[in-house]
Amino acid sequence: MKFGGTSVGDILQLQEITEIVRSYGTQRPVVVASAMSGITDLLLSTAQSALRNETAKVKEAIETLSRKHSHIAETLVTQPDIRDKLLGYNARLIELLYSIYQGVGWLSELSPRSLDAIASFGERFSCAQIAAIFKDAGISAEYVDARKLILTDADFGQAAVDFTATGTNIHKTLKPLVEKNIVPVVTGFIAATKEGITTTLGRSGSDYTAAIVGSALGCEEIQIWTDVDGVMTADPRRVNGARHLPEISYREAAEMSYFGAKVIHPKTMLPAIENNIPIRIKNTFNPSHPGTLISGKTNTGAGVVKNVTSIDDLALVAVEGNGMIGVPGVAARVFTALARIGVNVMMISQASSEHNICLVIPRKDQRRAADALQNEFAKDMAAKIIDGVRLREDVAIIAVVGEGMRGVPGIAGKTFTAVARANVSIIAVAQGSSELNISLVVDQCDVIRAVQAIHDEFMGK
Ligand code: ADP
Ligand code: ASP
Ligand code: MG
Repeated sequence: MKFGGTSVGDILQLQEITEIVRSYGTQRPVVVASAMSGITDLLLSTAQSALRNETAKVKEAIETLSRKHSHIAETLVTQPDIRDKLLGYNARLIELLYSIYQGVGWLSELSPRSLDAIASFGERFSCAQIAAIFKDAGISAEYVDARKLILTDADFGQAAVDFTATGTNIHKTLKPLVEKNIVPVVTGFIAATKEGITTTLGRSGSDYTAAIVGSALGCEEIQIWTDVDGVMTADPRRVNGARHLPEISYREAAEMSYFGAKVIHPKTMLPAIENNIPIRIKNTFNPSHPGTLISGKTNTGAGVVKNVTSIDDLALVAVEGNGMIGVPGVAARVFTALARIGVNVMMISQASSEHNICLVIPRKDQRRAADALQNEFAKDMAAKIIDGVRLREDVAIIAVVGEGMRGVPGIAGKTFTAVARANVSIIAVAQGSSELNISLVVDQCDVIRAVQAIHDEFMGK
């Protein structure tokens, strides 16, 4: 049972999850939780303040963190021994965090490694607090720091998991607790290298932690408890008329989340698929709702298109020239040049005329990417094989996802017609040969209108 930031973000929610976990008592739950909502952002933005030596801002953030967590302990933990232990733990964390911020300021250095160490405090505060609240409410529970369980490489900010070592640790540590009917409360998002250096699994990574832990234990179901009734046909905060989906396949879920549906982290599906464990999205604020079941079943439910989603803040780079036609290796050189500088390519499109290869990348990387490609193709440009590298800023990808689209004619046509009716022009298009999704690139300013139009077309108003 994984509880996200809003589910553990305040007094009422923490009381609610205590009762939810109690109601699953006989099923021997394991809990994974995130930091309280807003805390990871606060920790990371304060790290930037520390780097700029903005001492007042750092002190204010430390004050906020201390006040927020003490308030929860004092309100929700009534037994003095449990409360004092929690308050003592919080005080030690606060002291350690403050020293780290001071270190950042003194050294004027903030590496990805330091950022991970700083970000880890959110889940450490939150999970120690949840375990204490459970114990106080009469549920046997134990706080477990995932840095002792989940081992990763040293790719700070998005570390890769060593599944063999992690599986062994999870078995050794969590199985005995579960067998004694103790609910482990495991920190989401954070992990460590085998040398014990703190890493993280990427923003929103607690979902992934839940899947890693659940799969290693061979659990019955991985539950992701959040603040919506489940996966919807679009982000309910952005699209009018978004509807609940009772069931989707692993691949649909992976595709939607990759293309921006924030409700579940894209990596969550990997361990679940491997062990064929169903994932269920549930609403902490509406626990009796069945939620959304994500499983290996394909073509579930009605509707060819299941979801319309978008990723914002991207840029498009195109390598163009008539001389490229039939010249082998251009695409390989484009990818190698970008891989060398660590730029993630989100989408690729090349027309069969081979006159142009276009790639969509995060906007923050646009300058570096354009420069790397200019350098790579400098000689080809001088020889007129390539006309140039073109950059288009401020674009977004829209993805139309659904397992049932495969082999059904007219989906692309309907999509393009809807976008045209909304008076939005399409900059580029891609469809994987799995026919699980159609992706379009539009200008950032058009994205909300286009997503709404496509949603209206397939799901009705
Ligand atoms: P948590 O803190 O529980 O991990 P998140 O904020 O990460 O919660 O994810 C839940 C949010 O995802 C919802 O509040 C909703 O706004 C957003 N969301 C985006 N796309 C979808 C979608 N297709 N279905 C449901 N929710 C979505
Ligand atoms: N607290 C982390 C974040 O905000 C991880 C998570 O919430 O899943 O990214
Ligand atoms: Mg999330």
